[in-house]
Amino acid sequence: VKKSSRNSFCLFNREMNQRVQDSLRIDAHLRQALERKEMRVLFQPIVEASTGRMMKVEALLRWQSAELGNVPPDQFIPVAEETGQIVAIGLWVLEESCRRVRELQAVREDSVPLTVSVNVSARQLQDERFASIVSDVLRITGLPANQLELELTERIIIDDDRAVLANITALHEMGISLSLDDFGTGYSSLSYLTRFPLNTVKLDRAFVRDIEFNMQSLHLATAIIAMCRSLGLALVAEGIETQPQAELLGNHGCRYLQGYHFSRPVNPADIPQIAGFQPRR
Ligand code: C2E
Ligand code: CA
Ligand code: CA
Ligand code: CA
Repeated sequence: VKKSSRNSFCLFNREMNQRVQDSLRIDAHLRQALERKEMRVLFQPIVEASTGRMMKVEALLRWQSAELGNVPPDQFIPVAEETGQIVAIGLWVLEESCRRVRELQAVREDSVPLTVSVNVSARQLQDERFASIVSDVLRITGLPANQLELELTERIIIDDDRAVLANITALHEMGISLSLDDFGTGYSSLSYLTRFPLNTVKLDRAFVRDIEFNMQSLHLATAIIAMCRSLGLALVAEGIETQPQAELLGNHGCRYLQGYHFSRPVNPADIPQIAGFQPRR
């Protein structure tokens, strides 16, 4: 027993060491990623369930590193958050996203504004200047404030950080929408749904996955839809992979749907070819 526990301790150590090594490598190469133009923003459509129209796109970051190959965001974003590099990277994502959606709007029916939804990290919102930086980006890119949405997680908003709260208030007053990402995966208190000026809630795909086969899951999703509706929050269901999932959630009143069933994240230039975009005639 003693021997095996020592062995597993060694293994644990080696794994931890490996993870530290990986993070250091990622950090080192990440420092040059922007100037080497190794980053791209992809857009994934978010569709209005009742009409099939593409009303928003979510901006999702991609990094093709010369040395490390394609590194998924789940691997490099935590590193960038820890080192603070996410502040510069996040600003680049924001500006690129606003610019690209502005270009897309130019080839779309005027009457259907396209919103871009951008993921924001705690580090960015903790910077007192964040709201005014966002305002600068809108001015520089020419994107109207009502076509920008920022996705925040529960962890960020319940942190009670003074700068975060000031930024949230300022962004809301500027007419920017705020979206609560990964709803249902984190904390249990629901009071912040009304305490913060949220416009949108994104139902995590864990709730969507088995609604076709599991009545309990469907009941849970239906209850969340009803709750959001009565609180005046627009709900986006994430991770829609099948037609039955789209139909079930749509029929139960979920306003927006997002997932591979509609489209994978794609280059912004390819967005006009996707159904529901409504190009200008
Ligand atoms: P997220 O914000 O929850 O984004 C949704 C993730 O689900 C994306 O993974 C997307 O590609 C994936 N997805 C979309 N539809 C489906 C589906 O039908 N099935 C399945 N299985 N997956 C689907 P991705 O692009 O790998 O991003 C992972 C996470 O990295 C994001 O999760 C977000 O937390 C973070 N991230 C991505 N871009 C940025 C960024 O620019 N800034 C920050 N701070 N975080 C980002
Ligand atoms: Ca998101
Ligand atoms: Ca999410
Ligand atoms: Ca996530």
